[in-house]
Amino acid sequence: MIQVRIPTPLRPYTGSARVVEVTSGTVAAVLAALTQTYPQLAAQIFDTDGRLRAFVNIYLDDEDVRHLQGMDTQVPDGTELSIVPSVAGGAPAPLTSPDNVTLSNDEVRRYSRHLILPEIGVDGQKRLKAAKVLLIGAGGLGAPAAMYLAAAGVGTLGIVDFDVVDESNLQRQIIHGQSTIGMPKMESARRRIADMNPHVNVVGYEFALDSSNALEIFADYDVIVDGTDNFQTRYLVNDACVLTGKPNVYGSIFRFEGQASVFWAKHGPCYRCLYPEPPPPGLVPSCAEGGVLGVLPGTIGLIQATEAIKLITGAGDPLIGRLMTYDALDMRFREMKLRKDPACPICGEHPTLHELIDYDEFCGVKPAAQQIDARGIPEITVQELRERLTTGLAKTNTLLLDVREPNEWDIVHIDAARLMPMHTVSEHIHEFAPYDEILVHCRSGARSADIVRFLRADIGLKNVKNVKGGILAWAREIDPSLPVY
Ligand code: ZN
Repeated sequence: MIQVRIPTPLRPYTGSARVVEVTSGTVAAVLAALTQTYPQLAAQIFDTDGRLRAFVNIYLDDEDVRHLQGMDTQVPDGTELSIVPSVAGGAPAPLTSPDNVTLSNDEVRRYSRHLILPEIGVDGQKRLKAAKVLLIGAGGLGAPAAMYLAAAGVGTLGIVDFDVVDESNLQRQIIHGQSTIGMPKMESARRRIADMNPHVNVVGYEFALDSSNALEIFADYDVIVDGTDNFQTRYLVNDACVLTGKPNVYGSIFRFEGQASVFWAKHGPCYRCLYPEPPPPGLVPSCAEGGVLGVLPGTIGLIQATEAIKLITGAGDPLIGRLMTYDALDMRFREMKLRKDPACPICGEHPTLHELIDYDEFCGVKPAAQQIDARGIPEITVQELRERLTTGLAKTNTLLLDVREPNEWDIVHIDAARLMPMHTVSEHIHEFAPYDEILVHCRSGARSADIVRFLRADIGLKNVKNVKGGILAWAREIDPSLPVY
């Protein structure tokens, strides 16, 4: 028998079981046995084609099975398989230089316990004073990280947060207090830090980090500490770190579990190497929805602060290429090896991402800007249709309907389309349910617009769109070799 370790977000599907015993076999066989016992788990870890979802990794002991034989990897008796969903090198030189930095007598007294540590010493303390650390968020992870980094003597702390302190934050966000409820978190954090260590310069960014400002802000800092609670910002922080060459000290928390790592493309993998795609919106609940043990962000945030200090001073062995996972209920830390993905779209051998993108769209939080025609009917262009066809309609679970007559189909048609003359559509309504998206086309787009309106308004289907300009536009703009009529 082998043990399969179930992460917190998936435990609702295993009747709260944290560890499940399964007969040994290949990874595929073990997962099949597991999902046979817990059928609801199947949709969480496999896509509709039965492939492992891109935001789920499987580890055999501490090794990612993708680096073994994938789903064919044998899982020997007595070993442990872990399902690790995203709840998304060599020793680098110290990030900062002690040159041109002096410590006052006050500072020498304050930092004396550091100064007598050989691994930090006067040199390391000066490096800390010269350092600029950017904290993304002054919430659960950012609060403890900011406090300890300030206490440790990091010279400049940038904090990005535009939220306001709420009473429900105080269970874990210990930088804030009763007296700062209702105050911007930025201001609340600034006051606490000023009281703790007046030698720290706090730089506040009281607005949302986004694609238009991230690169410029990151450029000013030595290290970025990611304390975000949503996937859009997590991918934004990762990509901005890769593009600016900065180390990304990553932490994430959920209920009783946390993860931490250091992503630094120069020396190891990035977050996208680990999780190429975010989970669909709603699949992984946020802390607000799922809850979080109040002390948990303290543990993870302090791992992040520790890693930041190590990177700045060059002390020790950073958490690069390693994912630390922590389970507070088991009181167990586990370490998994991470490898750089040569096919990573941003830090791989042939990157396709060279600038920041729209992360709301990437994470499916908002649909791509929807075009609507004069009658209020959603439509897509033939260029977008070509993209869908290139990726494969199965990928987006799309049905392409051609509502012209059979003789028109004989003249010219798109192979991936299904012929369904418009007067027959109402007889086929029951066949549409399995599809996530229905695209409708005709000759020029007029008849299909009527069908789109019928399917949406009368039948109540949601994701139905008209192909703008029909097959004439397709022939004109995409495939001029086709006949037109
Ligand atoms: Zn990468």
